[in-house]
Amino acid sequence: MSARDVIIIGSGPAGLTAAIYTARANLKPLVIEGIQAGGQLMLTTDVENYPGFPDGIVGPDLMAKFREQAERFGAEFVTADVDEVDLSSHPFRVRVAGHDETARSVIVSTGAQARMLGLPNEHDLLGHGVSTCATCDGFFFRGHDIAVVGGGDSALEEANFLTKFADKVTLVHRRKELRASKIMQDRAFANPKIEFLWNSVVTDVKGDGRVEALELSDIETGDTSELPVTGMFVAIGHDPNTKLFVGQLELDDGGYIVTRPGSTVTAVPGVFAAGDVQDHIFRQAITAAGSGCMAALETERYLETLADVSTSVE
Ligand code: NAP
Repeated sequence: MSARDVIIIGSGPAGLTAAIYTARANLKPLVIEGIQAGGQLMLTTDVENYPGFPDGIVGPDLMAKFREQAERFGAEFVTADVDEVDLSSHPFRVRVAGHDETARSVIVSTGAQARMLGLPNEHDLLGHGVSTCATCDGFFFRGHDIAVVGGGDSALEEANFLTKFADKVTLVHRRKELRASKIMQDRAFANPKIEFLWNSVVTDVKGDGRVEALELSDIETGDTSELPVTGMFVAIGHDPNTKLFVGQLELDDGGYIVTRPGSTVTAVPGVFAAGDVQDHIFRQAITAAGSGCMAALETERYLETLADVSTSVE
């Protein structure tokens, strides 16, 4: 079977936007959407900051609309995880569901995952008081008492941001020193709405359908306590989904795919990366969608250059 024009790996906002654009460009994309299709928005409830939805939209409904739009223009989908990729020769090879697919270009949009604490209740309460994104969910906590877990730049940035809405933000950190940069620390220490709980770990998230309190343990004394809050923002870092690409694409120290600034071009010509897999700064559905569009347009241009080369050889 001849190689396809493009395979898109991943089906969050970046992958599905790339699918819409490449499908409309008649490149007949194959989207390998993964077993847990749809990306991080599948784990959220209300999305109020995606333009075009003035009344907000539930995360999974938004992703269903993205998918429907890509399908409408002829994108094909495989609901499975990619087992292996070979980007060392052209056309590229992608092994999925026991067989090989080949393509002249690949768009990688496998996303990232927020690290979680690993508590039993945490996943059930995600979107119901537990959040991994202050920008997305802060607004829902106007006038509430909430907690942020972590001691790095993300945790302090989120804590500061959340004080715009919450009455009180308790930062729960497992050590006595913060990992965050000095400037972020100074800002947080100067913020009267932020309280610090040092040497503390969350051992349970309590609540029936919504977060009501955190159970905490002091790691030095072993004392336990309960912190009544309606929200817990987990800000202990993210892991990009790049295991498949180790040794094949250039990755940075955090494991994110390195793209040329201002583009989605990776170290391998014909392979483009879009969304959170290459962005550890913005991490928004709209920025991911934007970079998915960029990847599609850059793919189109790349395929045109291949066509030019083959015409000039003939
Ligand atoms: P990070 O720097 O790796 O910090 C993670 C924090 O979470 C650490 O304080 C760590 O504690 C804590 N932690 C990790 N696992 C934990 C667990 N299981 N339970 C409790 N606490 C846990 O991650 P990040 O804050 O997301 O930042 C990632 C990168 O982005 C950094 O390079 C950061 O500087 C950058 N960033 C920059 C900005 C900015 O400049 N505006 C904003 C956000 C992020 P320990 O300290 O004890 O290890």
